[in-house]
Amino acid sequence: MIVVMKPGASQQQVQHIVERIEQLGLRSHIIVGTERTVIAALGEKRDGAKQALETGEGVEKVVPILAPYKMASTEVKKEPTVVETLGLKIGRDRIGVIAGPCSVESREQILEIAQLVKEAGAGGLRGGAFKPRTSPYSFQGMKEKGLELLAEARNKTGLAIVTEVMAPEHVSLVARYAAVLQVGARNMQNYPLLEAVGECDKPALLKRGPSATMDEFLLAAEYILKTGNQRVMLCERGIRTFEDHTRFTLPLATVPFLHQTTHLPIVVDPSHGTGKASLVAPMAMAAVAAGADGLIVEVHPDPEKALSDGFQALTPAVFRQMMVDCRKIAVAVGKKL
Ligand code: PEP
Ligand code: MN
Repeated sequence: MIVVMKPGASQQQVQHIVERIEQLGLRSHIIVGTERTVIAALGEKRDGAKQALETGEGVEKVVPILAPYKMASTEVKKEPTVVETLGLKIGRDRIGVIAGPCSVESREQILEIAQLVKEAGAGGLRGGAFKPRTSPYSFQGMKEKGLELLAEARNKTGLAIVTEVMAPEHVSLVARYAAVLQVGARNMQNYPLLEAVGECDKPALLKRGPSATMDEFLLAAEYILKTGNQRVMLCERGIRTFEDHTRFTLPLATVPFLHQTTHLPIVVDPSHGTGKASLVAPMAMAAVAAGADGLIVEVHPDPEKALSDGFQALTPAVFRQMMVDCRKIAVAVGKKL
């Protein structure tokens, strides 16, 4: 349920309702809006709870939350959530771009690409140190050494590091180096990992599982929100369909759909979404046109030599042009990139 306070309700009245909610065995979550404060009361439905709260002083009304995802829903919070960390700002009228290689491969590689994507206007540097690979024989990432190199790249450029965390026991290690914790598509429903990320004070980038429905995606985000981390970004990265001309199928209707459903920012990954370098820039532009709040794009100084996902990596020159083109679309939709 949501307890909607009257405009101008006092601090004490809000506090009193919070206490009442907790006495009823529910969890409270205060959202201070521009006009009024609302308090979400979360937990198992209790008989009589609605009436008990409705009579509180300063309460305007008590309404049920219909969506299964409570804290992610626009029913609870209408204003878009903006995630800002270092030079990366994602949400509302700002489009943030996260760019870099699929994996951190060497000091030279990551420092070179960090400088190049920064010059092109990216605010975040991506690069996996812990890599989820389909085959156990493929390159698995540089692990902690990779994180150290990412931190060095951040120190040199000021870019926000976005890197994947694959296991709950690695969250504190990765959070020491990263500005944003990426939860990969394969781990979207790894609930202990989502809760560990929820306990962390770093923003999260949650990638959609390739076969997850929108409800499953939003409920996965709900795990992170419910555990206490409010800075969650959703990432559409393509789903598995019968179609095989692209690696995955990138459904861009996800973007306006999620904007109607949740206040969380939506990032699009046209690299994994298409799996073909030549399709990445056009789909990045389409994502901006559809209202995406951010892009995450694979860029490599020499895609041919990449240890993972070279076939979908942009060269720095193509990435620079993509940024120029996406900026024009951003202006057309009233945003800044
Ligand atoms: C990645 O970003 O390199 C990655 C592994 O993405 P996903 O989890 O979407 O497959
Ligand atoms: Mn990749």
